[in-house]
Amino acid sequence: MLNIIICGAPGCGKGTQSDLIVDKYKLTHLSTGDLLRKEIAKKSELGLEAESYISKGNLVPDKMIIDILSKAISEQTSVCKGIILDGFPRTVAQAEALETMMANLNKEITLLIDLKVDTQELIDRLLLRGKTSGRSDDNMETIKKRLEVYEQKTAPVSDFYKNKNKYAAVHGMGTIDEIFGRISTVLDSKK
Ligand code: AMP
Repeated sequence: MLNIIICGAPGCGKGTQSDLIVDKYKLTHLSTGDLLRKEIAKKSELGLEAESYISKGNLVPDKMIIDILSKAISEQTSVCKGIILDGFPRTVAQAEALETMMANLNKEITLLIDLKVDTQELIDRLLLRGKTSGRSDDNMETIKKRLEVYEQKTAPVSDFYKNKNKYAAVHGMGTIDEIFGRISTVLDSKK
């Protein structure tokens, strides 16, 4: 069973690559950003609270996202071949909570894939996406904040998995197919 985390700075292509990984390896995709955007679209209480963080480029509080994700993971892991986590964990506290969740389900994370993309390319991709995404966080001011938050809070998650020998950096520049080819090579060695 493959249980993967796909991680990297905003705009690194996590969502695009997750779709390809799901197709090829038959994993269930859990994207915390998508789960939050569904709540925002429903205008639920949780969605309204989440939007106040997301639109400013901040992370939503750990407790909020851990509650959402633990429910989704426990629903999925018993019925699927494996999961791909996209956008979670984004803090070391979330990584610790994930370890506990997985241990309680008698499962474990196989690997974290860290997509590495140059900063200017990230900004260009996010600004381009902002023209059509309708997302409140794809604008220059919020992008800068998201990149800062990524460096401060999310980059340390890589060390957490490096220390467990469950880390692979993948070059995230080039065509979508080239990047997917690199990811496949890594995943095929884990099957
Ligand atoms: P994403 O679609 O993964 O880029 O997520 C969009 C936004 O949702 C992020 O900038 C955060 O504000 C929020 N978000 C998504 N996942 C998390 C998480 N694991 N922890 C905290 N905030 C999150």
